[in-house]
Amino acid sequence: MIDTHTHIYFEDYYSDIDKTIKNALDSNVLKMIVVGIDYNTSVKCIDLASKYENILYPTVGYHPSDLAVFDINLLEKLLLDNISKVVAIGEIGFDFYHFDYPFEIQKEAFISQIELSIKYDLPLIIHSRDSFDDLIKILKIYKGKIKGVVHCFNLGYAEAMQIIDCGLCLGIGGILTYNNASLTREAISLIDINYILLETDSPFLTPSVHRSLKNEPAYVKYVLEKISQIRNIDINELETILNKNTYRVFSKIKGE
Ligand SMILES: [Zn+2]
Repeated sequence: MIDTHTHIYFEDYYSDIDKTIKNALDSNVLKMIVVGIDYNTSVKCIDLASKYENILYPTVGYHPSDLAVFDINLLEKLLLDNISKVVAIGEIGFDFYHFDYPFEIQKEAFISQIELSIKYDLPLIIHSRDSFDDLIKILKIYKGKIKGVVHCFNLGYAEAMQIIDCGLCLGIGGILTYNNASLTREAISLIDINYILLETDSPFLTPSVHRSLKNEPAYVKYVLEKISQIRNIDINELETILNKNTYRVFSKIKGE
């Protein structure tokens, strides 16, 4: 399995990163994308990925709730200095739930990072919370030029189809196991399976079976199980399909 979205570098949550990575490997989660949320965490992702070559893959980007020192030139320099390692730009997007920065600030940061991804032909990892209408407006403008994933997808079939129509995949995590996610389960039962990616967003959004614990990449197996039930596909066959999807979207990650 591949966890396409984790923040295992959050020291407040993971006192022993090596142990967390070992748990993942022991659970057959052999690769993980470590996703930056600002400059410093993007550097951390790159450093960790250097230590765990062919296991961890870093991204660089500013999350819409972490724009205090947003600097697109600094980000581009970091990307260029590590261009052989960085597999995506992210996570970027809109967050109107926390609304830590005004709309125009979020939009400017989002667009400049989309343009960076186009310039270097990299996929995007997109965060969108309570902001679907504004997100889809931007994605439509860039349709045909962008690739990547809208991570932590928690909406229904109509929204899923609009995202897929813009050429992007859906990152599916622990939310799929929650009682209140019936619309998302319905969407997952209907859409083209080639547009689904597996993720945890760990330490957040722990699958319901371990709801009281912090999430970790090892638990991505519960998401795989849930999709397998919903689609009535053999779990090993599903794993092969989802791995292929990941290699297609994140083309710098090579398969076994
Ligand atoms: Zn995230």
